[in-house]
Amino acid sequence: MIIGNGAAGTYCAEQLRKLDVACEIVMIDDEPYTLYNRVSLPRYLRGVLLEQRVYVRDMEWHEKNRIDLRLETTARQVNFEEKVVHADPGGDLRYDRLLIATGGRPNPLRCPGADGAPYLFNFQYFDEAKGMVARIPESKVAVVLGGSFIGYELTEAFAHRGLETHWLMRGPWFLRRALDKDGGEVVSLLAKDAGVHLHYEEAIDKLERSNGQLRVTGTAGFSATADLVGVGLGLTMNIDVFQGTAIETNVGVRTNEFLETTVADVWAAGDVAEFYDVVSQRHHRMGTWDNSLNHGRHVAKNMLGAKEPYVEVPTYASGMFNSNISVMGVTTEEEPDAEALVEVDYEGRNYKRLFFLGDKLVGAILIGKMKGRKKVLELISSRAAIEDRQSVFGLLAMPEAVTKAATPE
Ligand SMILES: Cc1cc2nc3c(=O)[nH]c(=O)nc-3n(C[C@H](O)[C@H](O)[C@H](O)COP(=O)(O)OP(=O)(O)OC[C@H]3O[C@@H](n4cnc5c(N)ncnc54)[C@H](O)[C@@H]3O)c2cc1C
Repeated sequence: MIIGNGAAGTYCAEQLRKLDVACEIVMIDDEPYTLYNRVSLPRYLRGVLLEQRVYVRDMEWHEKNRIDLRLETTARQVNFEEKVVHADPGGDLRYDRLLIATGGRPNPLRCPGADGAPYLFNFQYFDEAKGMVARIPESKVAVVLGGSFIGYELTEAFAHRGLETHWLMRGPWFLRRALDKDGGEVVSLLAKDAGVHLHYEEAIDKLERSNGQLRVTGTAGFSATADLVGVGLGLTMNIDVFQGTAIETNVGVRTNEFLETTVADVWAAGDVAEFYDVVSQRHHRMGTWDNSLNHGRHVAKNMLGAKEPYVEVPTYASGMFNSNISVMGVTTEEEPDAEALVEVDYEGRNYKRLFFLGDKLVGAILIGKMKGRKKVLELISSRAAIEDRQSVFGLLAMPEAVTKAATPE
């Protein structure tokens, strides 16, 4: 049985069927859709991708592969001793082996006027994207709150649609824990090139309904009358059902390197898995499509009896206005003691930040040119000792850059 039909759940089901033609596979999910690509939602919101293209798998595929997918079905309780999931609707469902692939839900905006406000959206589900797409033709002004990837995706989509877009973030720059001031500045330049109005160290203090719009008041002087408000305030993992059981949870469901939880015959994968990462040698939670997909495929083998560790350098790649951003391995977000080395080229809108723990390269962030990305990934993966840290920039050869000294942050 699999709880959650996102990338982790669905690719696990696919791999289970490939490896075992006979096993019975039941997958439940509380959303009404077969697997759709959350990574495609920003392009759908921008209006450059049709709704049908967001889907990755349809019902026919599940039937053909004999995967008993039950949509709009919620796991309310799990009795791990009896090996029973209480589903609503559906009642008690018995399992032999269970995968928890429940992902996370977006944190709502909490301020006066936010409860039940129209035209206020998070950005995690297809239905939220559809709601925004329906509102955009009637909109002129959009406000976005959030200094991480979802905040960026909303901002870029609204700006692309020609809306006057105000991007608010509580911190002093984008991805404030992973980028330094220079990286933040490069993102600011890219956002300004795209016509975005930036408001740092600003949040939403209150919302008021006003003639079919929302009056937005900021905490540091911002005010606007918006047709659309989007927020990206992080995710809370869907682990409530497992709390108070023998499953160890922290931010997500804790697993070892085999993606096994602390209960026999139960595994976790995807966003919700706080797994022991053998590359960074620490517990780690990743919120990326590739990680969820690879977890799903990998865990299927272990559910069928193998005991193979999951070994993969976590990566995240995305557009960044008219440029690109790539995050690899561990950054100061997860490992504040990592030492960082930076190269920046404002004019070319290029930025590279390398993260070291001792003599090992453990992570990197690139904005702009992606040249040498694969080599850096290999270097992180190899855990090779590096004597001359500066030499890593050679792999990412970039002319006319200002190189800064290593600074612990
Ligand atoms: C707008 C957006 C853009 C993104 N862009 C990128 C990108 O550019 N690159 C990238 O790598 N990643 C990106 N991501 C992140 C990536 O999409 C996720 O990391 C990935 O989809 C997570 O997959 P998952 O299977 O772990 O979880 P999910 O896709 O969250 O699936 C979990 C499912 O379980 C269901 N569920 C939860 N609890 C229960 C329960 N009790 N009973 C039944 N069902 C339950 C949930 O409703 C959900 O359908 C983006 C995400 C979003 C939202």
